[in-house]
Order: sequence, then C-alpha cells, then structure tokens
Amino acid sequence: MMKTMMKTLGQKLKRHAWLGACLVLVNVGAHAQTPEAPAFAIAIHGGAGTIEKSKMTPEKERDYRAKLEEAINAGYGVLEKGGSSLDAVVAAINILEDSPLFNAGKGAVFTYEGTHELDASIMDGRDRQAGAVAGVQHIANPINLARMVMEDSPFVMLAGEGAEAFAKSRGVPMVDNRDFDTPQRRQQLERAREKLKKENEQDKDYQAAVEALPAVFKMGTVGAVALDKHGNLAAGTSTGGMTAKRYGRIGDSPVIGAGTFADNNSCAVSATGHGEYFIRYNVAADICTRVAYQNKSVAQAADEVINQVLLPVGGTGGVIVLDAKGNIALTFNTSGMYRGSRVAGQAAEVAIFGRD
Ligand code: ASP
Repeated sequence: MMKTMMKTLGQKLKRHAWLGACLVLVNVGAHAQTPEAPAFAIAIHGGAGTIEKSKMTPEKERDYRAKLEEAINAGYGVLEKGGSSLDAVVAAINILEDSPLFNAGKGAVFTYEGTHELDASIMDGRDRQAGAVAGVQHIANPINLARMVMEDSPFVMLAGEGAEAFAKSRGVPMVDNRDFDTPQRRQQLERAREKLKKENEQDKDYQAAVEALPAVFKMGTVGAVALDKHGNLAAGTSTGGMTAKRYGRIGDSPVIGAGTFADNNSCAVSATGHGEYFIRYNVAADICTRVAYQNKSVAQAADEVINQVLLPVGGTGGVIVLDAKGNIALTFNTSGMYRGSRVAGQAAEVAIFGRD
C-alpha cells in the first residue's frame, strides 16, 4: 500500500500529443525517496523511429521488452551496490550492444557498401570528462573503447584506424566486421539500396535519396543515463549509425553535446534520431543548457528541443534525460522509442510505443 502510494506520489505520468509528438514524463524527485535514502536512477533507450504495435509480432515485442528490462536491471544493479553512474551506463549499454535486436554492436545497421561503422561516446557529469570513438569497424563494444579514450588518453574523440590502433595498444581484441551482421539488417540495407537506386534514377542526389528513406531504415541507436548514490550523473550512446549511410559518415552519437551530454549541474542526455539534425541543433547540450540557465525542468527542456525546435525543421528522434535529483524525461517526436527507466526502490518500467 505504502509502496503504491509512494509510487503514485513520486511519479507523474503525463502523455501529451503535439503534432504527433510524444512526451513521457517520469518525475522521480524527492517524493519518491525517503529523506535519508540517496536517490539513484537509470534510464535507457534502444532507438526511436516508426515503431508501431500493428507492425510488431507479440514475440518480437516480448523480446524487446525483456532485453530492455535486462539492460535497465544490469545498470540498476551497479547503482544499488553503490557503483558509479559511469559503470551503470556501460553495463546497460553492453547488454544492448551484444543483442542483435538493437543498432549497436551486434545488430548494427550496414553502410551502403555493406560494412559496419560504429560510433559511441560517454560523458562523466562530475567534470565533463568525455570520450568518443567514430567509425570503428572491429570493436565489439564501442562504448568501452569510448570510455578508454576518456580515461586513458589525453583526447576526447578518436576515429577509424587511429581509434583501433589505440584499442590494440590497450589490448582490446579486434573482431571481424561480419560479426556484426544480422539477416534483418541485411534485408533493410537491400530495401534501402533499392529505394536509393530508384531515387537516383529520378536524378535525386544521394543526400536527397537518403533523406527520402523512411525512418524505419535509419534508426535504432542505444543509450543510457544514470545517477548514482554519490549524486553523479553520466551518459553514454552507442550506434551503428543509419542504414545505407555513406562510409565515413559520422552521426551525432559520438559527438559530445549532440548525442551525449552529462553535467552534474544540469542533466545527462543520450539521444537517438536523425543524427545530422541532432548535430546541427546541438540537441543534448541545448537541453542541459535550458536546465542550467533557464531553470527549466528536464521534461520541459526536452519537450522544447525535441518538439518545438527539432520537429518543425524535420528532425526526428528522441532523448532520455535525467537530472541530479532523479527527474527523468523520455521524450520523442516519432511514433515510438524503445525506452525504460528504474529509480531507487521501484520496479523497472519499459515502453516501446507512443501510447504505452
Ligand atoms: N543518431 C544515430 C545517427 O544518426 C542514429 C539513431 O539514433 O538511430 O547515427
């Protein structure tokens, strides 16, 4: 009874439709905790896009929900034991990277040429230390390498061969690029290529043709944000990018401020969506800037950037946002986003569709 009351008090679930946009707010602030219990929380995403219940088999939906829950609980377990938000973010993301269901690590989308190029980044809310890798082809868990760049190099971002040489120098095993293949991503590439060919025949340039691909071809990144018992925030994002991307194309996920951001004084963000827009609009940092300088709640800041700034210019996707009090916003302007969260003392919550 008490637990239910606390949950009701501590969580404000609000659904709001604006031009097809979805916003889910979960307030897990002071009400959810007893005064002496330190707040800790985690939120994750597994990509936003055209995700509709009518197009998903019950088995597939079950698999997605189970994997999201496993990832949330892995991160939560780290936090519960007093572990750091960085460790929790990595633990959750590793599970999603290793799953063929998501567009990161195993299951990453293909480039137009039929290879995989992976991007990832991580940020520490204590001091804005950050690490990122872009366009790596032989790293099973790019988020771990991003963390190594942060902790074990004087740099923030390493790309391609240089990132892999760094990985080798630190004893990270190289894996075959084909290890990331999955039949469903191959099929998506083939369908995307056909569409691109048709567009090219109509003399559209490559960029216009990629733009014309339905969102379902393009998205599915994974990410996590966490708040630990010590009051520290962290954020991380890992992706295969967008189906049929040109080789060498780098999206927002490894770009600090665009796809990932964390600062204890404002918030932690991991983004997913059409990367070019997220880079141009500096999405993750913009949300936290609104929190820091305009005193906006994470929910309000995320709503403004995702629905009022990005959507009108054609930027589709979503974000997970967490502040140092444990307030969470899971905000997206697509029909769905694989997402979930868990706060101290409560059960994991997982959702996929806009009206979940
Ligand atoms: N943001 C990723 C990218 O543009 C894709 C995604 O989130 O699905 O590379």
